[in-house]
Amino acid sequence: RNGFRKETFVLSVDVGTTSIRCHVYDKAAKIRGSCARKMTLMYPEPGRVELDPEELWREFVVVVKGAVNDSGLQMSQMEALGISTQRATFTNWNRKTGEPFHNFISWQDLRAADLVRSWNSSFTMGAVHSVMKLLHFLTRQKRFLAASLVVFSTQHVSLRLAWMLHNCPQVAVREGNCCFGTIDTWLLYKLTKGKNRPSYTVCDGVSNFLCFFLKMCWSGFLCSLLSLPLSIFPIVQNTCHNFGSSDVSIFGVPIPIMCMADQQAAMFGECCFDTGDVKITMGTGTFMDINTGNKPHTSIAGLYPLVGWKIGSEVVYVAEGNAADTGTAIKWAQELELFSDVRETEAMATSVEDSDGVCFVPSFSGLQAPLNDPGACASFMGLKPSTNKNHLVRAILESVAFRNKQLYDTMLRETCIPITKIRADGGVCTNDFIMQLTTNLLGQSISRPTHFDMSSLGAAFVAGLGVGFWTCKDDLKKLQSTECLFQPRFKTGSVKDQYKSILQSWEKALQRSMHWYN
Ligand code: ADP
Repeated sequence: RNGFRKETFVLSVDVGTTSIRCHVYDKAAKIRGSCARKMTLMYPEPGRVELDPEELWREFVVVVKGAVNDSGLQMSQMEALGISTQRATFTNWNRKTGEPFHNFISWQDLRAADLVRSWNSSFTMGAVHSVMKLLHFLTRQKRFLAASLVVFSTQHVSLRLAWMLHNCPQVAVREGNCCFGTIDTWLLYKLTKGKNRPSYTVCDGVSNFLCFFLKMCWSGFLCSLLSLPLSIFPIVQNTCHNFGSSDVSIFGVPIPIMCMADQQAAMFGECCFDTGDVKITMGTGTFMDINTGNKPHTSIAGLYPLVGWKIGSEVVYVAEGNAADTGTAIKWAQELELFSDVRETEAMATSVEDSDGVCFVPSFSGLQAPLNDPGACASFMGLKPSTNKNHLVRAILESVAFRNKQLYDTMLRETCIPITKIRADGGVCTNDFIMQLTTNLLGQSISRPTHFDMSSLGAAFVAGLGVGFWTCKDDLKKLQSTECLFQPRFKTGSVKDQYKSILQSWEKALQRSMHWYN
């Protein structure tokens, strides 16, 4: 009104597995205000993991208002909102009334395990694999070989959704009144009060469903194979897009929603814009991603080819390896009272020379790439009367670094892309012992940013680019901050040698834990 334009900011919300966090970013990508809340996961039966959609929505509003409040700024100064969520957690709701038909089914939920097993051993899958093998034989194209190895997993949405549609009588797929969505789709629906057509970002779309053929639209083949009605799906949009504005009644002013992303957003937050850039997110699970440029990677070892982001006409692919039990293993040890605060673990691990020959297999949810065995069990091996708590804790922390090495080696071997840089983030990356050991084993320096809520920063970056808050990716690179650069450090070359035999024992422990449940 008086000709003075107030400084503006970008809001970003990250919905993780254990918490929901909102930050207010200024032009220098500095956090000006934050608010976080714990997420209440529900375990109605063993193996079932759910989240209440209405509670999630209430918490979302609380953290956004809380962060703006914390910053001392006004809601009207928020120029855009970016959202990043966990992949593969979904719900279905009534498009007309907005009532959820059931709770969110978490990516950790195992209710479809039997369905997954029966599909993987079915005649249909056998036939699909045979056709792919034949095509590989005839064409020598690696993608057909990769397709011949694709199997369903409970972590994918597809079979958990099929399970819900067939077993949950509340879900009424009639007259186009059922709407499927991941957390971001649901939040968008609530933010716009159902005014905009439910959207889904290309990252989720491809990651969750289209692993078979990687196309930028719904995979009709997969949907008809699993009897999933196409009418329930939202439209697929670019990562950066004007998804609509929040209804005025929610925050008092409309805020444009400019980014919906998955945890690949962390890649963007880490400025891993170039082919060969790698980031390692260590939170509840580990997600190691390499930028593979404009080509999806076809993997034999179980790396997922994903869309990193699609902005305008530029599509960037990443290949992702994951380990499902990183933070979960550390939390489990805490619940067992091996320590009371996770920050104690580092001192405990370094208080002993080694793990006393103890190996830990972090496999509460099976072993992912490159072993790909959902039936592997978690285990401690090599326990002795001399083993104490510190040895156990050291073995757990070492296992995180060992899985990092395993994923990294798989990535190098399969993609043949020279690694240009490695950035780490996620709650577990605050652990210097894990960071230094990973650096030593990889033989590559790894940088840890000042703030490691990288998915949140990534979503803020994309949203900010969308409204011209930031102008280009080169600008974003200049805003990167590094708190610590870990360099490979070998005590007279001994760490590598020392770990050579420990790694061999650990790999033996992995082999012995495999196929425990199948
Ligand atoms: P998510 O986003 O998957 O919810 P976070 O990135 O917030 O997870 O990381 C949380 C995990 O980090 C928790 O499991 C916690 O135990 C672990 N964690 C936090 N600090 C440390 C630490 N210093 N050492 C080891 N683990 C840690």
